[in-house]
Parts: sequence; C-alpha cells; structure tokens
Amino acid sequence: MGKKTRIILSVFGLLAVMVGVIVFRTASISKTATAEPTAAAMLIAVDSNATARHLSKAVQFKTVTMQNKEDTDWPVFLEFQAWLLDTYPNFYSAVKSEQIAKYAQLHIWEGSDPSLSPIVFLAHQDVVPASETDEGWDYPPFEGTIADGFIYGRGTIDDKGSLIGLLEAADRLAVNGYKPKRTLIFGFGHDEEVSGSGAKAIAELLKARGISPYAVIDEGGAITTGMPDVKGPVARIGVAEKGYLTLVLTAKARGGHSSAPPTYTAIGALSKAIAAIEANPFESGLDKVGVAMLKATASEQDYMGRMAIANMWLFKSTIEGKMRGSDTGRAMLGTTIAPTIIDAGFKENALPREAVAYVNFRLHNRDSVKSVTEHVKRVINDPEIEIKLSGNIGSEPSPVSQIGSGPYLWLEDVVSQAFPGTIIAPNTVLGGTDSRYFALVTNDIYRFAPYALDASDFSRFHGLNERIGIDNFAKTVQVYYLMLEKAGD
Ligand SMILES: [Zn+2]
Repeated sequence: MGKKTRIILSVFGLLAVMVGVIVFRTASISKTATAEPTAAAMLIAVDSNATARHLSKAVQFKTVTMQNKEDTDWPVFLEFQAWLLDTYPNFYSAVKSEQIAKYAQLHIWEGSDPSLSPIVFLAHQDVVPASETDEGWDYPPFEGTIADGFIYGRGTIDDKGSLIGLLEAADRLAVNGYKPKRTLIFGFGHDEEVSGSGAKAIAELLKARGISPYAVIDEGGAITTGMPDVKGPVARIGVAEKGYLTLVLTAKARGGHSSAPPTYTAIGALSKAIAAIEANPFESGLDKVGVAMLKATASEQDYMGRMAIANMWLFKSTIEGKMRGSDTGRAMLGTTIAPTIIDAGFKENALPREAVAYVNFRLHNRDSVKSVTEHVKRVINDPEIEIKLSGNIGSEPSPVSQIGSGPYLWLEDVVSQAFPGTIIAPNTVLGGTDSRYFALVTNDIYRFAPYALDASDFSRFHGLNERIGIDNFAKTVQVYYLMLEKAGD
C-alpha cells in the first residue's frame, strides 16, 4: 500500500469514527423525554373562585411605586398589609413578623430543627404604573376584573400572583396544623420596581443575624409554552441573573455660533464614543447555564438540533451563531449594550457645550461593573469624555446557583411532582429581581414561580392586559403549598 493510500484510508477511518460518534451521541437524546415519569403528587383541593377573588382584591390596592419616591402613595401599602393580615390570619399567627424599611415585611416561620438552614421565599408588593386613561386595557388595570376565565389587572403576574399565591398556600398549611422542621422565611419587598431597597434591607438583616439560607426562591422563571426555542411546556428555573449598569457619557466642547465650528464638537465626540462601544461588543458565548439549558430541552429539537446539542465538541460555535441571530439569544450569550438616552443641543445654529448619553449594560457573569467600565473607557479612548455610573451604583451579575445538585434537586422534585412530564431547564434571567441582594447570604438563588405562561404573556409584564387564568392561579396555590411543605420537611 502506498503512503498516499494509507493517509486517505486513515482520514476516511477518522471520518467514519467521527460520524459514528455524532450519530451515536445524537441517538442518546431521544425525541421524547427520557426522564423517568414521576408520580404526580396529590395536590390539595383549592376553590379556584375564592383564590381568584383574593387576587382580584389584592390588585385593587394601587401599590404603584413611582421613580420619584415622593410620588408614591405609601399609605396604600399599609392598607394593603392590613388586608393581608385580615385575609390570612392563620399565616400571620404562625409567623413572627417584622416591618423592615417601613413598608417591607419579613415573616419567619420558625422550624423545629435549628440544624437546618432556612429557605427564603420572596415576592414584591409593588407594581409598575398602568396608563392613566386605562387606554388599551380590556378591563381597567386596578379593578381586578374576573372575566373570560382570567383575573385581569396590574400585578396579577408581576408579582402579586406570587405574593398572594404564597400566602394562600402558607395560610392553608397553618390551618392544617403544619409545623415545619426547616425554618421558612418570607420576604415581601415594597419597591422592587424602582430599586429594591426593601429587599436589600432584608438581605442585610439576615446577613447581620448570621443567617445563610439553604436557598432563596423568587420570581423570574415560570412554566412556559410556545416559546421560540421549545414549543412544549418547560419549567424555566432561573439559576443566574444578569448584572445591571448604566454609564453616563458626557462630552464637552466649545460652544458658540455654528457658522465657524471647531473640529472637536460635543455631539461629534459623543457620537464617536457610542459608535465605538457598539463596534466593540463584549465576549459572547455559551456558559454552563446555557449548555445545561440546551441539554435539558434537546429532546424537543429536530434531528439536526439534537445532533448539534449532543455534539457540542463540534457544533458549539454553530449553535452560538444561530443564537446570535436573535436579540434574546445574544442577550443570553454575553453582556449587552443599549444606548437609551441622548441629550444635547437646543438651537439649530448654536453648538452645544455639552452632550450627554446614557448607555445601559446587562452584565453576563464573565464580566463585572469594573471590567465593563474599563472596557468602555478603553474603546472610547477619548480622555475628554467623562464616564460616570448613573446613580453611583451598578449591580454585579449574580452567582450561578447549583444545577443538578443541592436545592436544585429539591425544586426539581417539587416541579416534577406538580407538573409530571414537564421538562425542567435552568436558565439565566435577563431582567433584574429582588433576589440579587441575597447573593450576600447564599449562592443558591432560584427564580421560579409556578405559573404557566405562554409566549403572548411576556408582553403583559409591565404592559397592557396583564392577567392570569383562574385555574392557572389555583394551580399556583397548590404548587406553592407542595413547595412550602417540601421546604419545611
Ligand atoms: Zn416583579
């Protein structure tokens, strides 16, 4: 055999082995989920009309937080809390309650076994405003109308659905004489939508008391259906959350008449700076959360999709390339850049002395507030442009919680008993939640509320016609009951 033939044969041999490995690995993901079917848990009986009426009533308290804190109607928060106390008396007598930062609430349901570290459940009381005129709403946003099988109104999914769902469940547990072994802590912040100082104060208090929770559960994930990546139901457990930072860029230059302009102008320099930032995007690629998510949902993909996911050693960059084709895909892969405000000039024939831009960044966990700020300085490369943090504060990306071990297994167990056969997948939450402050006391933060949401629901968050199905909400109560019971056992 000639040398050439030998080389060709060994190349073919290698190719055959590669194809064999690719096909074999692809076959290891079957089209239908392979997970052992979990026995469905017996869920408690819930009167769905009664729970709907409670959520409807909760919506009617206009606990709207405004960006300018003086514009917020704070007394309504106390009225809302008085109603909660009235409506869930068994819960309130089972827990020790503290008022934190005036309007936030901390409730501790002491467990019998002090060797078990507590689990914290978070939900926020406040909501974002709805349009003054109620225009575009099928039913007014603060009337809590129950119609067409839904409860309508601001907060039904973000986040009074969680708050009321937890209280409905915990109150029933208390009625049934439940005594947790593990301490259950409930933290109800009052200003999540504007900064989260209430949740922050609760986290700091836990830290000061030396409490490091086993896990923290907050909003941010749900059971989704009809999403672009997977059509069927998927329980999305948020195991990480992106960081947040806004940089304010200020360019200064000589003002004056526009008939004889200098070569360096404020608007010109600022425009170059923004263009430079966008031209130098941050590192982007799949991290361990993204890989785990793809693997968990692989069985729902077509053959080519399954082949790519099963053979990430070969196709990782192909998958990343495909993800970069969508805005959310890119947001999952790296730190994003969004110029959001620009302000300069007042007269068409006068040069402004100053031009200001706000650029918002959502930080992937491979980056930090410091590294992003330094990157921006470097790529702008203009010492004349001042770069400052908006509000003097940025929030770092969260730690990545355990996936497939520790509290993840507990949550996975609850979800698979409540929603048998549903795929459970970890993901990164792109927005911000109150839970970010709890990185101070634990790495294991899970963002998941047991609602079912379809693709159309995402525009209802902070948008028009926010609503939740009556049966969907009753199921939320049932699942929270199971979750709390399993947390305390
Ligand atoms: Zn929320």
